[in-house]
Amino acid sequence: MPAQTPALPDVVGLTQALVRYDTVNAQSPERACALHLAGLLEGGGLHVQAFEHAPGRTNLVATLTGRADRAPLCFTGHLDTVPLGAQPWSKAPFGGEIEDGRLYGRGSADMKGGIAAMVCAALELAPHAGRGPGLTLVLTASEESGCQGAQHLASCGDALGQAGAIVVGEPTGNYPLLGHRGALWLRARTTGVAAHGAMPHLGVNAVYKAANAVQKLAAFRFKVHRSEALGLPTLNVGTLHGGVNVNMVPDEAILEIDIRTLPEQGHQRVLHELRHCLGDDVELEPLLDLPGIYTDAAQPWVVSVFDLLASHLGERPQPRSAPYFTDASVLTPAFGGVPTVILGPGEAGMAHQTDEWCAIDSLCAARDIYVDLARRWGVA
Ligand SMILES: [Zn+2]
Repeated sequence: MPAQTPALPDVVGLTQALVRYDTVNAQSPERACALHLAGLLEGGGLHVQAFEHAPGRTNLVATLTGRADRAPLCFTGHLDTVPLGAQPWSKAPFGGEIEDGRLYGRGSADMKGGIAAMVCAALELAPHAGRGPGLTLVLTASEESGCQGAQHLASCGDALGQAGAIVVGEPTGNYPLLGHRGALWLRARTTGVAAHGAMPHLGVNAVYKAANAVQKLAAFRFKVHRSEALGLPTLNVGTLHGGVNVNMVPDEAILEIDIRTLPEQGHQRVLHELRHCLGDDVELEPLLDLPGIYTDAAQPWVVSVFDLLASHLGERPQPRSAPYFTDASVLTPAFGGVPTVILGPGEAGMAHQTDEWCAIDSLCAARDIYVDLARRWGVA
């Protein structure tokens, strides 16, 4: 009897299967969803390794081994999703229901659809891949809270292996984006001296110091030029908490600051500029530190990606960037600054929305694009 080749999963069915795993970040760990994918990938002949950075928080590195003289192409995506939000859903958020060409569910666009398309592409290529440079799938946990899964993989010896270029399957409507700004989140703390609210002259008010800091932050401007593709850096004060009782002089206040930077802005320098601006009254501590990434549109692999996408999109892509950060903030430097493109099914505007959906056509197109990209790399 001839050996049975396992049937290839279809991208729509696999997206549904992944959406049916609740992997809401920090509430529901990714392990079961990751093991589902590990089984499929192993069955298709890929070498799969699992790495957990916390109990149940499973990251996968799956490889189609190839020739040693050329680095593999890397496809990457994250398994976790954001929470459902406060608004009620009209579709079951973990149902994977299909209506009018749309597949509904939390993570359908951001980004289980992209992962399903990457996995289907890898399984389709696997039987023909032996003599090419290979393919690496990096499927991470805990991206939405700041890329902790990718950071764990980058710190685990040779877990990631090598890659010559990266495709991040975040929702872009299958339009290739060349990078994104970095994220530097800071916690700022002011302290004072507590006293009775009726005798404020006996205390030092930490809220007044924090309010003064907020004024300075509102007026703060970065000394950089606008980047054509990435725009300008931004700064936003997201939270401000201080004081315990109305009749006390508060002795502590905390604010949290979200800074989005251009790749050329070193975060140490940004921190130094802010410390100088805010003075000694404010302690600053980084909460998240992810650099921006950008690959030039003239980079030869990017040119070939644009050539390929021109036929899929019906027009040549323009150099554009993503509004959000991705695991590429960690993976691109970990692979030595390799060219990186963000490209996946689903519209960016759908990410994190109530009644999130991904178009079926977009899923099928993404799978075809990933197969074509891997073929151009020489994987099969
Ligand atoms: Zn995402």
